[in-house]
Amino acid sequence: MSAVVTYWAEHAWLPHVNGPVVERDVLIAVGPGGRIAKVTPDSGPCPSGAIRLGGLVLPGHANAHSHAFHRALRGNVQVGSGTFWTWRDTMYRFAGALDPDSYLELATAVYAEMALAGITAVGEFHYLHHAPGGVRYDNPNAMGEALIEAALRAGIRITLLDTCYLSSGFGAEPTKPQLRFSDGDADSWAERISELKPAEHARIGAAVHSVRAVPAEQLGTVAHWAVMRKAPLHVHLSEQTAENDACLAAHGVTPTRLLGDHGVLGPRTSVVHATHLTDEDIHLLSDTSTVVCMCPTTERDLADGIGPARRLASSGCPITLGSDSHAVIDPFEEARALELDERLRTRTRGHWTANALLRASTEDGHASLGWSEAGRIEAGSLADFCAVALDTVRTAGPRPALGAEIAVFAASAADVRHVVVGGRHIVKDGVHQLVPDVPKALAEAIAALQ
Ligand SMILES: [Zn+2]
Repeated sequence: MSAVVTYWAEHAWLPHVNGPVVERDVLIAVGPGGRIAKVTPDSGPCPSGAIRLGGLVLPGHANAHSHAFHRALRGNVQVGSGTFWTWRDTMYRFAGALDPDSYLELATAVYAEMALAGITAVGEFHYLHHAPGGVRYDNPNAMGEALIEAALRAGIRITLLDTCYLSSGFGAEPTKPQLRFSDGDADSWAERISELKPAEHARIGAAVHSVRAVPAEQLGTVAHWAVMRKAPLHVHLSEQTAENDACLAAHGVTPTRLLGDHGVLGPRTSVVHATHLTDEDIHLLSDTSTVVCMCPTTERDLADGIGPARRLASSGCPITLGSDSHAVIDPFEEARALELDERLRTRTRGHWTANALLRASTEDGHASLGWSEAGRIEAGSLADFCAVALDTVRTAGPRPALGAEIAVFAASAADVRHVVVGGRHIVKDGVHQLVPDVPKALAEAIAALQ
C-alpha cells in the first residue's frame, strides 16, 4: 500500500505487547482510505516530504458523551447557586431557542473547539429532535442531520446517538420544554431514526435518555433497534439519587436492574455517569460487559458525586470519558480527574496509570461509539491522532519518555498543536484549518440564542 501522506512524530505513544510505550522519530504512513499503512519507530530525522509533528503524538481522543448545545450554558450556570434541577431549567431555556440553522452554527463551533482539544470523534447524545411544542420539522431529522453536518464542517467523526425521550418521569407526560424531545412512543422514535443515513465521518447509534424518560415497557423497543443494527446504545444511569428513589418507588428495582431486565445492558451499551450504584448494580454491569462512560468535569460541576469507576473497571467494565455539558472541553482534564477524584475519596494514590487513562480516552472511547478501527496508532487503524506540545509552560521539563504521564497529569487542551483525522491535517500549529476563528464562531452562535 503506497502512502498518500506521511507524518513524522518526534515522539509517539504506540501500542506494544507489554503495554503502550513512547517511541521517538516515528514515521506514520497514511494509505488510501485514511488508514495508517505503516508505523516505523526510530526512523531517524524527519525526511523531506513528511509532515513534522513535534511533541508527543497520541491517538485522537473520543469524546464519548456530548450534548453540543450545553456549550451555550458555560458561565451562565455558574452565577449564584442552584441545584441540578435549576441547572436543568437554564439548559431548557437555551434548548428552546435552537432551530436546525442555529444548531448547525453552534455545533460546528463546539466540534471545532473539540478538534482543537485533540478530540477526533464525538458521541452526540441527541434529544433535541422537534420544533418548540413538539411540532415536527418538514424533515423530522433536521436537527440530527445538522449535527452530522456540523461534525463534517469541523473535520471530526460523529456517532449520532439519537435519543428516545418520552416522559418527564415515571408515568408522567413530557413537560412543555420536553415536548421537543418526544416522538410520542418508542415505535415512532424507531421509525424516525431509521431514516437517518450514516456517512464516511458519521455513524448512527441509539440512546435511552434515562429510565425516567422512557417507560419500562418501551425500553425493549430501543434495545431491539440497536441489537438489530449492531449499533451502539447509550443511556444516562443513576446520576442523581433522586432517580434511584423514583425508580425504586415505581418499579421496586434500581435503574441498573430495570435496564438489565429489559435487555438494555451489554458490551455495545454504554451507561453514562453510573454515580450511585449498589453492589448488585456493579455485578450486573460487569456480568453483562457493559461500558461505563464517566464525565468527571460535569459530575463535579453538577455536584453529582464520585462514581465507582475504579471498582467498575476492576470488575471488567471498559471505562470511557465524555465532556457531557462542556463546562470545559479538555480530554486531559477528564482523564486525570478519574485518578484525582479517587485519591480524594480514598486518601491513597495510584488507582489508574496514565496509560490506562489514555486508553479510556482513546481506544475504549472509540469502540464505545462504534469506531473500533480507531484509537490506536498502528497499521490498519484509521489515521486519527493528535500531537501535544512538550515545550509549553505546562509540559516542559520532564523527559519525553514520560510523555503519557505529562499529557494526562499536566497538559491541557491548549497544548494540542496538531490534529489529524483520516490522514487529513485539520489542526495545524494550533489553528483549525476548516473553521478559521473558532472563538468568534462560538461567540456568534451563542449570542444568537440570547
Ligand atoms: Zn448527558
